[in-house]
Amino acid sequence: MILEKLNKHIEKQIKTYPQHVNRISSIGFPCKRNCVYQITHWNEREAVSPDLQRIFNEGRHQERAIKKDLEEAGINIIRQEEPIWLQEYNLSGHIDGIIQYRRSLIALEIKSMSTHLFHKINTFADLAYSPHAWHQCYTAQIQLYQFGTGIKKGIILIKDKNTGAIKEIECELDKSLCRVYLDRCKDVMIRVNKIREVLKETFQIKEIAELDKKQDREDYHAIKYEALNAIEEFLPERITDNGICNSCPYNHICLPDEIRKERLALWINTELEELLKRREELDSSRKEYSVIDTQVKDAIKEFNSDDFMCGDFHITVSRGKTIRININRIDE
Ligand code: SF4
Repeated sequence: MILEKLNKHIEKQIKTYPQHVNRISSIGFPCKRNCVYQITHWNEREAVSPDLQRIFNEGRHQERAIKKDLEEAGINIIRQEEPIWLQEYNLSGHIDGIIQYRRSLIALEIKSMSTHLFHKINTFADLAYSPHAWHQCYTAQIQLYQFGTGIKKGIILIKDKNTGAIKEIECELDKSLCRVYLDRCKDVMIRVNKIREVLKETFQIKEIAELDKKQDREDYHAIKYEALNAIEEFLPERITDNGICNSCPYNHICLPDEIRKERLALWINTELEELLKRREELDSSRKEYSVIDTQVKDAIKEFNSDDFMCGDFHITVSRGKTIRININRIDE
């Protein structure tokens, strides 16, 4: 009852919001095409699962808990959740906070992760070269917060969700690295604006076609086809890292079936192939077995004896908290 209510609450939290500008938290995603989709196709972003939503919520709880611990330890965190807006780059975000330490300021970013990942991450480079897209976003985030606030020093505090252990990853402002992200922001917006123009025209034609006669509707379909091709032209090239693509919430619109097939690795192994075929054959028998097994056991449970014979089979039943049934063939 309580759990149901909680689960419903989690489901209600799963929402997709429009995105009109670049976000500091996601501009570091290791695929520029994804960054364009974030704005032009925000409504087609794959919804997160309730499990992933729980992980996000947990991350937010952990962030609050760490800030509280820091404050109780006498560390002064100022300008918490301060918005950052870089007009020239159409880039926005919120910084977790800024630590006032003696006479200096330190930009603060807080993250939590599983023990397994926590052990692997010890330096800024571990995050920057991690195979996980979201880790690469963290490095872009702290650098751009430092750039946006003009603070030279930054730290990412990482918490192990299971043990509560904390690590500190130091980050020096690297303006050339920031320049890479800022150039990306400009390029993304150029492409976004071109795609928007195509979409706007297509929608206008669609409206006319809906009001107008058949000829216009046919024209609209042709124009829509052209528009999809035009959009494809303005989208950045696809990356070829399947690991990153698998975690991308736009892969369902980005990777049509033919590209997915092209990307599949091929392992020529005749022995395995035979096993796979046999496995497939047995799978249907397994399903049939399970249906008949249930029918047999339901019938046995109804019989008024716990030790009996049926044809060549000896059946015993033990009725405790759960009912256990043994069926043995009597050898002739
Ligand atoms: S599916 Fe791959 S190529 Fe396409 S946007 Fe996502 S990460 Fe980029």
